[in-house]
Formats: sequence, structure tokens, C-alpha cells
Amino acid sequence: MTDTSPTRVRLADVTKSFGAGPVLDRVGLDAAQGEFVALVGPSGAGKSTLLRLLNGMHAPDSGTVEVLGTDPAACSRRALRTLRRDVGFVFQDFGLVGRLTALENVLMGALATLRLPRYGVMTYPASLRARAVENLERVGLVEHRFQRCDTLSGGQQQRVAIARTLMQDPRVILADEPVASLDPATSVAVLDVLGRIAKEDGRTVLCSLHQVDLALQVADRVVALRGGHKVLDRPAGELDEAAMRAVY
Ligand code: ADP
Ligand code: MG
Repeated sequence: MTDTSPTRVRLADVTKSFGAGPVLDRVGLDAAQGEFVALVGPSGAGKSTLLRLLNGMHAPDSGTVEVLGTDPAACSRRALRTLRRDVGFVFQDFGLVGRLTALENVLMGALATLRLPRYGVMTYPASLRARAVENLERVGLVEHRFQRCDTLSGGQQQRVAIARTLMQDPRVILADEPVASLDPATSVAVLDVLGRIAKEDGRTVLCSLHQVDLALQVADRVVALRGGHKVLDRPAGELDEAAMRAVY
């Protein structure tokens, strides 16, 4: 392929329902290598469902889903396990172990790709510990590495969770409302980290947000869902708040 930014994530004409009317109705979406795509829309718009389709947690009723060229709902369990190593997930509630330190939590990210004991993460090989410290440095928390996570602020905890995801060196990062519980300034700081990771490492980041203004500030592209329909898909640079209000 001559394209320097190959497609990493693709949905085409995807419909998904849970019994009643469709939660996603003929939705298409492409995300390229190194691209930071914000998925916006009010609660119930279908954002989490879309991300779960990409992780193979749901199968579409019709249409195609491809992540790194693989259909997560149609591949073997073994292929799905392999695919999930390439796909990092960042959650709204961080998902950290509060009584463990930042460094220990980041080290646990290595469990996604390596067979290691779940306990005694500080006995992991020095090379892994060095990578964990490096990843904490990338999210600006290296000086907090020995601090228990339950004593860190929300924004710091989410940055630890991002560093943990980096341990599996994912080509795609899916983040489901990662800043929903954070104040606006902290949210921008966390999203800037994700944006930098997309750009510098060439990872594809797909991040759902319910705050449109944040999406405009940090994303390369904004995709808006409303009631399961895609109502907008444009480079963030071509959008302003008035354009966004027009679709809501
Ligand atoms: P968002 O993340 O944008 O808030 P969701 O994708 O979580 O939206 O939900 C979209 C709609 O799909 C909602 O009406 C929700 O109740 C419904 N829904 C999501 N997941 C399920 C499920 N597993 N079973 C039944 N309904 C679901
Ligand atoms: Mg959601």
C-alpha cells in the first residue's frame, strides 16, 4: 500500500440492535494510523456500543467491522486474543488497583501480552520495569511512581491507566469517556496525552466524549452520533461550536 496512513479501524454500514430499535443504524467510520478521532454524542447515542463492536464484545447485526484488517466478531478465539493485544482499552473509571503504586499498576499492563505472575509485579524483569518507568515519564508521572494510586488525583489516575495500556504497545487505543469524571482543565491535560501518543507513536486513538468543546480542542476528527445515526464526520479544524450546535 502506498498510503502512508493505512486504515486501522473500519466500520461499514453497521447496524446493531438489542431487541428494540437499532442502537447503531448503518454507521460507517474509518480511522487511520496516527489519527485521534473523537466520538461525540449525548448519552444513549451509541458510543459505547460502537467501541464494544471494535473490541469484539458485540457482533453487528449487519455490516462490516474491521480492526487491523480483522473482523473481531468473526475471527477465531485465538485470533481475537491476538487482536486484543493490539487494542488497548481506557475506561471511564480508570480500572486501577488503588492500593498498588502507579508503577505497579503500569507493570500490570504487561499481563495483557506476556505470561507473568499476577502478584509480585516488582519482581518482573528489569527491562519491563524500565519500560514502565518510561511510560510513566511519557504521561508526566514519573515522580509519582511509588505513590499509591488511591492517593492520586483523578487526572493522574487516568494518566497511569494510559501508561498501563502502553505496556502492551497497542496499535489502536479505544477510550470510552475517559474524562467523564474529570474537570475541564484536567480533561484537556489527559486528552492531550492521548493525542500526543497518537501523533508521536502512530497509534490510532478512538475516544468517546460527551463534551463537544473538548473534542474540538483535542481531536483530529470529530464523529458525532445521535440516536444511533452518524450525523457528522469532519476534521476538527473545519468545525466550530456553531457547526456542532447545528447537528444537535
Ligand atoms: P452511549 O455510550 O452513547 O451513551 P450506548 O452505546 O451505551 O450509548 O447505548 C446506546 C443504547 O443502547 C442505549 O439506549 C442503551 O440502553 C442500549 N444498550 C447498550 N448496550 C445494551 C445492552 N447490552 N443490552 C441492551 N441495550 C443496550
Ligand atoms: Mg457510553
